[in-house]
Amino acid sequence: MKANRRQFIGGAGALAAAGTLAAPAIAQAKPRVVVIGGGPGGATVAKYVARDAGGAIHVTLIEPLKEFVTCFHSNLYLGDFRPYDSITHGYSGLAKHGITLVHEAAALINPNTKTVRLTSGATLPFDRLVVAPGIDIKFDSVPGYSEKASEIMPHAWKPGPQTQLLKKQLDALDDGATIVMVAPPNPYRCPPGPYERVSMMAHVLKKKGHTKSKIIIIDPKANFSKQGLFSEGWEKHYPGMVEWQDPKMHGGLKEVDPSTMTVKTGLADYKAQLVNVIPAQMAGKIARDAGLANESGFCAIKPESMQSAKDPNIYVLGDASIAGDMPKSAFSANSQAKVAAMMIRGELAKSQTFPARYSNTCWSLIETDDTVKVGGRYEPKDGKIAAVETFVSKTGEDAELRKQNQAENMGWYQGISADIFS
Ligand code: FAD
Repeated sequence: MKANRRQFIGGAGALAAAGTLAAPAIAQAKPRVVVIGGGPGGATVAKYVARDAGGAIHVTLIEPLKEFVTCFHSNLYLGDFRPYDSITHGYSGLAKHGITLVHEAAALINPNTKTVRLTSGATLPFDRLVVAPGIDIKFDSVPGYSEKASEIMPHAWKPGPQTQLLKKQLDALDDGATIVMVAPPNPYRCPPGPYERVSMMAHVLKKKGHTKSKIIIIDPKANFSKQGLFSEGWEKHYPGMVEWQDPKMHGGLKEVDPSTMTVKTGLADYKAQLVNVIPAQMAGKIARDAGLANESGFCAIKPESMQSAKDPNIYVLGDASIAGDMPKSAFSANSQAKVAAMMIRGELAKSQTFPARYSNTCWSLIETDDTVKVGGRYEPKDGKIAAVETFVSKTGEDAELRKQNQAENMGWYQGISADIFS
């Protein structure tokens, strides 16, 4: 416990002290890696560089949150399949790897001076910087929506209070209620996530006997991840409760109006008791402000290393990056982080490196013990991260196989959480 306290630095005041302490550390001429963002991408890369370099590289992780609530499995929390506590993680487990944790936000990256300025004003120099801030929500991509409107019509696409608000609203509904989900356009975090969320909402309604309730999905896409599997599952478990509309059907989303709880489309105006708006997304502000993003709003990377296409001293991981065929998922971010950690140690500690290999699997729970999955292996090819092998569950599968998928899903969560946070 005492050792942990020495490794960890909390708040601006303590960081000022760290600033004065930084000089002797620099005198030791240890290479410095600074990581922005303590999610699956950032926390994993910080751990793997620090642990595997065995003290040869100084690693600082900048993350304002003291507790990280995972978006992954937040749908299972919504569906009453796991408690909120079980998707909440602290950072104390990372201390033993010798990481310096700074609980503040990074305010500015200066690639020329190779420094990061924190909100407190303190400046951290780096030899290599890893930028893994996740996504920002493009509130203005949905007419009528705003950050303020999200307090009434939650997006719950960033974890924490938004997820809890959505859960509270779901649990308070009466039978016969209408839920409208405005689904996001590509590319977005967790391609099957909105449709797993619909399944979990339907599960909660059905369990309460609220089978007269309805969930309408207004989708800007003509198709979606694991569509056949979800459609089959909704038909089987929640007949008549889920209605998916593509742009040809709804004729375009015109506006959401939080004051009347209405979603207006070319087809109809829907008055709802719960509206879940998931807008378009972009890389976190710190990455965009540093000029790391292109016109898509996300950051191009070199597929061999996860280095930014714009600056070889900066790596970009996870949802903020453009990772070719890899979806934006925690599994992907964790996999990319391990490649980046290996390359960074290769550059700064001359350790051996191997060609980049990535992997991903996304499980989705449709109803109790009915879980489907999609995934693949990926390698650098033709200038991008390309899928070299993919797999996806099939419709009409055996119930036992679907049950096994759910056991894998729960085991994966356990394993990846430990891998990221301890
Ligand atoms: P994040 O997890 O967003 O972490 C980024 C961190 O950076 C945050 O902690 C933030 O506080 C910090 N940060 C931002 N800006 C700054 C700054 N300026 N300074 C310092 N820190 C900063 N993935 C799966 O693999 N499996 C699933 O089943 C799954 N289910 C999902 C379900 C839902 C409903 C959602 C929304 C997502 C799901 N995902 C799933 C996706 C997964 O949560 C994300 O892909 C993953 O969290 C991305 O990791 P990241 O490290 O890139 O970003």
